[in-house]
Amino acid sequence: MWARLTKRIRPERVVNICFLVVMFFSTLLTWREIIVLEDAYISSQRNNLKNVANDMDAQLQFNTDRLLFFRNGMQSALQIPLAFEILRNAEQQFERQRTLPDWSISLNNNRTLPLHGVSDEFVAHTNLLSRDNALLSNEFMASIELGYLLRLSSLTRQHLARFETHMIYVSRAGFYLSTEDEQRGSTTEYFYKLATSPWFTAQSQRNNPDRGVKWMTTFNEDKPPVAQMVIAAVPLDLQQYWYGVLAIQLSVNEMTQFLIQSVEGEDDGEYQLYDRRMNLIASSEQLLSRRVQLSQEVQAQLAHAYEGDNEGSVRQVSQFISWEKLRNFDGVLLRIHSLNDGIRGDFGSISIALTLLWVLFTSMLLLSWGVIRRMVRNMSSLQESLQWRAWHDMLTRLYNRAALFERAAKALDACQQKGQPLAVIQLDLDHFKGINDKYGHQAGDRVLVYIGRVIMNKIRKEDIAGRVGGEEFCIVLPSTSLEEGRQIAERIRESINSREILVGKKQTIRVSASLGVCCSEELYRYDFEHLQSIADSRLYQAKNNGRNRVCSED
Ligand code: GH3
Ligand code: MG
Ligand code: MG
Repeated sequence: MWARLTKRIRPERVVNICFLVVMFFSTLLTWREIIVLEDAYISSQRNNLKNVANDMDAQLQFNTDRLLFFRNGMQSALQIPLAFEILRNAEQQFERQRTLPDWSISLNNNRTLPLHGVSDEFVAHTNLLSRDNALLSNEFMASIELGYLLRLSSLTRQHLARFETHMIYVSRAGFYLSTEDEQRGSTTEYFYKLATSPWFTAQSQRNNPDRGVKWMTTFNEDKPPVAQMVIAAVPLDLQQYWYGVLAIQLSVNEMTQFLIQSVEGEDDGEYQLYDRRMNLIASSEQLLSRRVQLSQEVQAQLAHAYEGDNEGSVRQVSQFISWEKLRNFDGVLLRIHSLNDGIRGDFGSISIALTLLWVLFTSMLLLSWGVIRRMVRNMSSLQESLQWRAWHDMLTRLYNRAALFERAAKALDACQQKGQPLAVIQLDLDHFKGINDKYGHQAGDRVLVYIGRVIMNKIRKEDIAGRVGGEEFCIVLPSTSLEEGRQIAERIRESINSREILVGKKQTIRVSASLGVCCSEELYRYDFEHLQSIADSRLYQAKNNGRNRVCSED
């Protein structure tokens, strides 16, 4: 079964198929491995991003926790004020100064922060501000307590600072206190700026109904806009009354430093921090020209993705972008790494090695394919020529004796089955010995080649002609009667004798042949050797009758 299969399919095709299969699977394997590597690379990048986002979250949480801690402190101070003498003095100072345009109270510079305030008139004329609250003196004292706490915590600020630049309390009753020392311009001007800033106005009952922490980023008007500061603010309320706003300002610079540090020690790449509206706040890349710009399309894609998910990744041409929302910040952290960064890293060098290996393997495969194909081709042509030589006479290119006998026996069987006759012609050249003697053996060979050609031209495709002796030929004609056989023999004899043959330089000779014809019709059984011997005896009869003739009867 296997042998029959391999015999039917050409060896060259088998070799082609085998090599194609090997090449296909090796390519498939390499391709799969590279995809697995790419996935591993992307997930390692995601892990890096997750770590950095967690770190940043922890720092930001510290700030929001602080905000909420101070708010709770103020709320309890509002409810149960401490009635220290010193605080009462402050209250009296306030009562004395409250109508002045700018005023400030500093009780003890070493223990609390000074309060700066504006006049009753300013409060009356400014939106959202009001001094008409029953607990104004309580708020006032709570603020001084906050001042103590902030002062205290600012002593340890160096150790605790997590992006924070300063904390501020802005009261709707027209005063503020801040851990930032310097105040630019007059209190009135500065306070106006505070009371109209977006992070303050966003804390009204309507704008912040759930009273939680709100994040704001302010931008310079440059192009592209550069983040100026990030502010976390929370309103202070008690019994449905809104007193003021506690806010922490975070340093964009420190955030940037944090991102720069996060990149160090990792493969190249860039971290970018965005607010919810996709405004860039900070980037680990300081050089504007090297900073990755997100296309409008990718920005829209990201903004849409934030709605549903907390993390994900998108692609921008040759850049992979992984993103992660921060839990304690109203924004998103992006890790951007390009194909080039990837190639420079470990995963890149493995992929390159893998690709080179594939190239090497494939070229070796192609080379051996070429060599084996050529070998197989040579072998099959050698096999063909050996086979041909085994069955043919090299001189006349007709069948040799063995091949003729085998084929003739098969043809005879076929004719017997179909009930058709088969004719046999036996041919011998006349006085051939003389030609050899007179013109040489080579001339004799030329005559033999010529005779072979004449015979081939005079027979049909299904007829079988062979050289069965030195200058003796046998022609087997299937489905041919004795008479038809005789006519064919006659045509061959005529053709042989009709032309001069060139045997040497300008030397031509004319040869003749004697032929004996016999047909299976004449016998009662189909036996090729018998048929041939009869044709042979008729051939000798032709010789005896004077040569150059056909004899078809005894
Ligand atoms: P006849 O008419 O009676 O057949 O005379 P003849 O000379 O042809 O006699 P015969 O058939 O006995 O001669 C055979 C000769 O054919 C003998 C040999 O020299 C020559 N011969 C046999 N094979 C070859 C061959 O391969 N090449 C050449 N040049 N001559 C061959
Ligand atoms: Mg002879
Ligand atoms: Mg002869």
